[in-house]
Amino acid sequence: MDAGCIFCRIANGEIPARIVHEEDDLVAFHDSDPKAPTHILIIPRRHIVSVGALADEDEAVAGRLLLAARDIAKKENIAQSGFRVVTNTGDDAGQSVAHLHVHVLGGRGMKWPPG
Ligand code: AMP
Repeated sequence: MDAGCIFCRIANGEIPARIVHEEDDLVAFHDSDPKAPTHILIIPRRHIVSVGALADEDEAVAGRLLLAARDIAKKENIAQSGFRVVTNTGDDAGQSVAHLHVHVLGGRGMKWPPG
């Protein structure tokens, strides 16, 4: 736990969030500034800064993040229409919260490549 990390504080219940899914190692909640009609963030409970900071030993939690994205897309009814799974890593990607998070976005058509 990093006491200065907003997502650590959501994971341990100190800061409220609209939680949609919880597992031993993960929490998922609505993004507070949604960029699509459905916009959920999935985070590991443990403070990991980004994909770039994953250790080989994090294989299980890294895998769970994607499987949770699959399950949440079904639950949020965007699995059929399509959805995007994004994790921004570092400054060039626009990462604004230094705690690994997977965005699950859906409910509208999206362009490629991203900006
Ligand atoms: P990124 O820019 O990829 O690091 O994504 C960070 C995301 O966290 C943004 O989409 C923010 O809107 C979202 N966010 C920041 N603070 C909160 C919060 N307290 N609750 C929910 N989402 C948040």
